[in-house]
Amino acid sequence: MTNKQPITVARGDGIGPEIMDATLKILEHAGAMIEPEFIDIGEKVYLAGQSAGISDDAWESLRRTKVFLKAPITTPQGGGYKSLNVTIRKTLGLYANIRPNVSYHPFIKTRHSNVDLVIVRENEEDLYAGIEHQQTPEVVQCLKLITRPGSEKIIRYAFEYAKKNNRNKVTCFTKDNIMKLTDGLFHKVFDEVAKEYPEIEADHWIIDIGIAKIADTPQDFDVVVMPNLYGDIASDVAAQITGSVGLAGSANIGDQCAMFEAIHGSAPDIAGQGIANPSGLLHGAIMMLVHIGQPQVATRVHNAWLKTIEDGVFTKDIAKGGTAVGSQEFTEAVIERLGQEPSTFEPVTYSTTGQDDDKVQHQMPLLAKERAKPDVVQELDGVDVFLLNNTLTSEELGQKLETIAGPECRLVVVTNRGVKVYPGGFPETFTTDHWRCRFQSAEGHQLTNQDIRHLLQRIEEANLNWIKIENLYTFNGERGYSLGQGQ
Ligand code: NAD
Repeated sequence: MTNKQPITVARGDGIGPEIMDATLKILEHAGAMIEPEFIDIGEKVYLAGQSAGISDDAWESLRRTKVFLKAPITTPQGGGYKSLNVTIRKTLGLYANIRPNVSYHPFIKTRHSNVDLVIVRENEEDLYAGIEHQQTPEVVQCLKLITRPGSEKIIRYAFEYAKKNNRNKVTCFTKDNIMKLTDGLFHKVFDEVAKEYPEIEADHWIIDIGIAKIADTPQDFDVVVMPNLYGDIASDVAAQITGSVGLAGSANIGDQCAMFEAIHGSAPDIAGQGIANPSGLLHGAIMMLVHIGQPQVATRVHNAWLKTIEDGVFTKDIAKGGTAVGSQEFTEAVIERLGQEPSTFEPVTYSTTGQDDDKVQHQMPLLAKERAKPDVVQELDGVDVFLLNNTLTSEELGQKLETIAGPECRLVVVTNRGVKVYPGGFPETFTTDHWRCRFQSAEGHQLTNQDIRHLLQRIEEANLNWIKIENLYTFNGERGYSLGQGQ
């Protein structure tokens, strides 16, 4: 290999510059063929008035090199600053967040001696679509968006990752006992994709017991795939039980670009003291080396790091009261061991074959072709009209709506925070100012958008304040909306 690979590098905030310098020094001594292009992101860019925390020049570098090694940044508190991580992930289409979690028993103290699990987190959808609204003085909402193509891509990525890395099982976490449509879709797609990989065991856990089991018996898990928010929480639990948040790296992978980082933040409490652990960022960099086709260098670095840990050279966060070295001494210790292998830990080997597979993986369609034009009949079945109401009781509201439903629709139910309050609600049910009124087609009538407009007009004429509507559809005859609790 002769040409150096350009990569975009951000030194970040807090401990970022210290751990980035350490990481780049180790990569240089290991013979990594990389050409770093430095960009500024984070606190100083935010405070210079860029609310996204990144400049146009930085985007240009990222879109050209397509590989980003990023140190943690500090998000200033308050003031409407957007999360730069979320912006970068979504703008560059980095849909897969991969976080390996490994315990290094008996050298690093941990509750569990045999953790070796990988969290594959969907990175773009779910509540992180960031679509939030205040609808009434008392009620705000956040839209949870789960899509079939988004689910299919991340789930197939998890199975491909398992196949390529000789892992035996992929587990899915959702909360589809409650969110039957959104999490239900993710689970359904998981079951469909799992059938394409009969050699890999597949199972599913409800998220709450799933995360509890990760904390209790992490050895039961291998690769775990889940929607965005659950993945955010589960991956921190998984990292914490391995001994230190300073240890784990993560990869954010898209079809064209990729970003590699440590999982921890900028640790302002220890910035500038020379005691930060560079290992998390180094592990991110090892994943980057494999991604850019330098698996031998990745192997050299990872084995030298394992040998350093075996030799008991620890930064303060993992020394847990024992003798600790500073970031620079730790870095020198890793460099001294380049070319050596660990004797207690299994030495790591990243192969060129793995890299070829990686390329195949990125070229393979992660979406099944037949789903490109789904043959679906979508029919309007009703409408949920949301009202702001502080004056009428549920009974009064329900009765008023019955009289204005008109010949095309019938009032089916009124709910408040999802619970049925009309007809036949309970006086014990707490209500807010936000009412969901469900109308469906009257017997023998096929509801149209025009009918809905007329209904809204009658609602306005009755001095009721509608704040939004949500159309109800069937898809190939199947209901595409949930029933109200108690409906
Ligand atoms: P943090 O991860 O920065 O720190 C949590 C604790 O872990 C602190 O006690 C810290 O000293 C320790 N720690 C973290 N990394 C360490 C390391 N490498 N070596 C030794 N000890 C380490 O989390 P926080 O304090 O909640 O957040 C600080 C800032 O980082 C915030 O502004 C937050 O928004 C930002 N943040 C950035 C990222 C990112 O850029 N990817 C991720 C998380 C948090």
